[in-house]
Amino acid sequence: MEQRIEANALFNIGYGLYAVTYNDGARSNGLIVNTVVQVTSTPLKVAVTINKSNYSHDVIKNTKKMNVCPLTIDTPFEIFEKLGFHSGRDTDKLSGILNWSSANGLAVLSADYVNSFFSLEVLEYVDLGTHGMFICGVTEAVEISDVETMTYTYYHKNVKPKPQAKAKGYVCKICGYVYEGENLPEDFECPICKHGAIDFEKL
Ligand code: FE
Repeated sequence: MEQRIEANALFNIGYGLYAVTYNDGARSNGLIVNTVVQVTSTPLKVAVTINKSNYSHDVIKNTKKMNVCPLTIDTPFEIFEKLGFHSGRDTDKLSGILNWSSANGLAVLSADYVNSFFSLEVLEYVDLGTHGMFICGVTEAVEISDVETMTYTYYHKNVKPKPQAKAKGYVCKICGYVYEGENLPEDFECPICKHGAIDFEKL
């Protein structure tokens, strides 16, 4: 029997969106991931997976600590642009959206956008090829508000800008960028969010 791999099937895994903060010694920085999972409860362990091409991957691998802040449904697209689509190598991504520092000295985002934070200490690192998975212990966990966490589905439906009705080509399902052209090259990478051709769909 033919076995298909349909990308849309995998889109049905439910995800939340999380700001991860870290400090490279010079400044606080952050990024957005959807790959945060509580993996055990006694002892409490949380896994966070980060693309190796992200600056944060290398910093967290060295410093062994990070904060995770679940983003709420009140988070506007500007915050995704600010945190998600620039590199922490050359941008101070957290300017203007900080709240306070947790006991580990790392940043926590403004309560306008996050409903809690957990401070993580890396216990194990799993090399997944393109990504690294950090298995972490929890050193602090605080609830800030009861506003719902933003899911990936909510982001796609309500936050991501809609492509223009007349545009032709392929749209990035992650950030809404439109590639104008008949054929999308297989090795195409979104210039805004860096996701690959697999995350584009035809308009
Ligand atoms: Fe994109």
